[in-house]
Amino acid sequence: MTRYAAPGSDGAIVDYQSRYDHFIGGEYVKPARGQYFENPSPVNGQPFTEIARGTAEDVERALDAAHAAAPAWGRTSPTERANLLNQIADRTEEHLEKLAVAESWENGKAVRETLAADIPLAVDHLRYFAGAIRAQEGSLSEIDDNTIAYHFQEPLGVVAQIIPWNFPILMAVWKLAPALAAGNAVVLKPAEQTPASVHYWLSLISDLLPPGVVNIVNGFGAEAGKPLASSPRVAKVAFTGETTTGRLIMQYASENIKPVTLELGGKSPNIFFDDVWSQDDAFRDKALEGFTMFALNQGEVCTCPSRALIQRGHYSEFLEAAVARTERIKTGHPLDTDTMIGAQASNDQLEKILSYLDIGQREGAKVLAGGQRIEYDGDMAGGYYVQPTIFEGDNRMRIFQEEIFGPVVSVTSFNDYDDAIKIANDTLYGLGAGVWTRDINTAYRAGRAIQAGRVWVNNFHAYPAHAAFGGYKQSGIGRENHKMMLDHYQQTKNLLVSYSPDKL
Ligand code: NAD
Repeated sequence: MTRYAAPGSDGAIVDYQSRYDHFIGGEYVKPARGQYFENPSPVNGQPFTEIARGTAEDVERALDAAHAAAPAWGRTSPTERANLLNQIADRTEEHLEKLAVAESWENGKAVRETLAADIPLAVDHLRYFAGAIRAQEGSLSEIDDNTIAYHFQEPLGVVAQIIPWNFPILMAVWKLAPALAAGNAVVLKPAEQTPASVHYWLSLISDLLPPGVVNIVNGFGAEAGKPLASSPRVAKVAFTGETTTGRLIMQYASENIKPVTLELGGKSPNIFFDDVWSQDDAFRDKALEGFTMFALNQGEVCTCPSRALIQRGHYSEFLEAAVARTERIKTGHPLDTDTMIGAQASNDQLEKILSYLDIGQREGAKVLAGGQRIEYDGDMAGGYYVQPTIFEGDNRMRIFQEEIFGPVVSVTSFNDYDDAIKIANDTLYGLGAGVWTRDINTAYRAGRAIQAGRVWVNNFHAYPAHAAFGGYKQSGIGRENHKMMLDHYQQTKNLLVSYSPDKL
């Protein structure tokens, strides 16, 4: 086990700046109203940097810069845009370890995750969209002998992007890569809980960016996010966050008839059919590992498999093994390389999770594992830590219906296939789901019957850049990842051309 030194301390590979301003027009710009807010690390609850507190004036300045840059950027060739994304990818990869430590320190997530997943996925995403834009082609329709309809994909212009705190760098890249590939200029607002890791990344790549093509305005949702999403000067709003906020974003954008893409909350079912238990083999082990995925990233994943549905035939044996495995999850310091579960991202999030631990018990759910806050001493004192928790209860309980966004799974049993699908779909959400079975027919039928945008079959929490991701029902509108994402950042220009010298 290695422990990375805390940013700014002796032996650290990362030094955060003591203050981060807005990044507008290729340079750092102080907030118009001169205000800053403190940014604590979830590791110990102590502020480590301060952040410019953005307002509508800052958003307007960023939009000025983006509008100044958009026409020239929109005319660059797909090859030029791909080259930029590849350069950003190379630079990101070169500094992978530093970025992983920086993000763990600000978000509280375990460094083994940021090293193995967050940052490598960000690199791959940039490279994927660099390839996708070069491979994109328009189309033509032959209307008649003399008339052709050409279809070109054109950028939208200036787009607004608002992101959450659970994967600060990856969420920024998920949004920026397709928007830039498609030729748009961007104003992005990071979450107020995790702006510094986005700025740390930016400091490593800012020399590559044409001024004004990427602008970052920090701040709170109501003060900086709302003016951005409400602006008539943006051609589109892309948002990831809570469903309640998504509803507001739609309202703001509708005032100006602007399109939105929304990646919202979830309450993903993870279904284990009886046949998983039929043999004591590697597949059974894999499925048990799949159960523990609810704790990955401290449960702060929109697709967290927070409802486990286990078939009645082997319910007790499966659950007993799942509890034992969950109890072996190593919680601890986010910068220790063998820690599996670190700190929750903010004190608000910690309190929200603790309130649900209480709600679950008051609803009559049984605690099979965890159920408590973890209070460490020493350099983790004051940090935001929670035990991985397993509740057993009923799908109508609030802990089965409401997004907790913590390392908490609610378990129930089902009788047969139809029962499983009924319970799985008994939710407002439809983002992710898992199906575990040795029977390929069951896997296919269940995968198609579950109302969710992504169904993992015999795996979970994989996020390849070339697989579409997004929500059914109240989990969102539109898709991210996959080249189909380019459609959300482009508009179709049709040239309808007559080659006839005389006929109209
Ligand atoms: P949140 O909605 O509170 O905040 C997300 C972002 O929106 C932040 O940048 C915030 O400042 C901004 N915001 C808040 N109020 C706003 C307003 N009125 N106008 C404009 N902007 C506003 O969500 P959160 O708590 O930061 O993130 C957690 C949520 O994100 C969870 O519900 C989770 O499921 C969801 N999520 C979804 C996906 C997905 O792809 N579907 C991915 C990650 C997270």
